[in-house]
Amino acid sequence: MKMGDYLVKALAYNGQVRAYAARTTETVAEAQRRHQTWPTASAALGRALTAGVMMGAMLKGEETLTIKIDGGGPIGVILVDSNARGEVRGYVTNPHVHFELNEHGKLDVARAVGKNGMLTVVKDLGLRDFFTGQVPLISGELGDDFTYYFASSEQIPSSVGVGVLVNPDHTIRAAGGFMIQLMPGTEENTITRIEERLKQIPPVSRMIERGLSPEQLLEQLLGDGGVRVLETMPVSFVCRCSRERIADALISLGPEEIQDIIDKEGQAEASCHFCNETYHFDKAELEQLKQLAKKE
Ligand SMILES: [Zn+2]
Repeated sequence: MKMGDYLVKALAYNGQVRAYAARTTETVAEAQRRHQTWPTASAALGRALTAGVMMGAMLKGEETLTIKIDGGGPIGVILVDSNARGEVRGYVTNPHVHFELNEHGKLDVARAVGKNGMLTVVKDLGLRDFFTGQVPLISGELGDDFTYYFASSEQIPSSVGVGVLVNPDHTIRAAGGFMIQLMPGTEENTITRIEERLKQIPPVSRMIERGLSPEQLLEQLLGDGGVRVLETMPVSFVCRCSRERIADALISLGPEEIQDIIDKEGQAEASCHFCNETYHFDKAELEQLKQLAKKE
């Protein structure tokens, strides 16, 4: 049985706490298949995709956000795009990165990502209104980095957990995450109870692997806080690229440049960074695009 990915938004402790939890196993698996990432790179990209989809769920309407993580490590840059509809896409510069497990027996994401760099979030709020937040990476494991981002850049005390388990054959075994955010005026004993819980729970990827749903994840995290689910939303890897968009990009090169491609290559091939889809244009199609470019 294939379980679809989804996300839940919830409140707990009489509205003092806002929480998100997501199962992203299929979404990360799709990213792994498309980019052919090796395990450590899969974990890094999967954690960022999972954080991205939960942050996307905080947006409204047509707003979108882009996360860029550039830690100076061998993986290069991680780029993730998401929106308010549970759609997310992303890639890493170097997908073929894998290391031995770290001293905790986990995929060594910090080594792949690096720790000397920045986590940047750009929210496109529409009508040319952008919000940009940026923090230095503090761990490279990403969960702690997103926690720090919320505290530092958005002034929201938060706890972010994201995790990915990879099978020996490089396919994705389990992926998911949570975000807990404290509203202003949260009582001290509520904070203490949540902190105690966070110390006791297993890693989020293990809980997903055991079959816990996002709702059950929140029960584990906030069980005695009266979790009230506000919304559930399907989550998936979706790219906005299309043949038309790539064709438009070719047209914008202008007729001389297109003729140059025809003369030198006889065809054109372009891949989308985000989803690795390749679009092919033969000579006849390039001639058509050249005619369109002349009319522009
Ligand atoms: Zn694409």
